[in-house]
Amino acid sequence: MEPDEGPDAEPLLFSARCAVCGASGPAGPEGGTASRWMLTHLRSHPGHLSFREVITRSYRAVPGE
Ligand SMILES: [Zn+2]
Repeated sequence: MEPDEGPDAEPLLFSARCAVCGASGPAGPEGGTASRWMLTHLRSHPGHLSFREVITRSYRAVPGE
């Protein structure tokens, strides 16, 4: 198995999830999308202080020798 970085691979995506209530933010191609959502969520839920970054990375199976 190896990361699929070919031209037809799905793009790397970053998102974030609140570890307190389980809410998830939108996914985007860079970490800034997750960071912005965490700050927005924290502003509206000041007690929600723990988050998880979720990274979606495509893998492809490669035949062995
Ligand atoms: Zn929350």
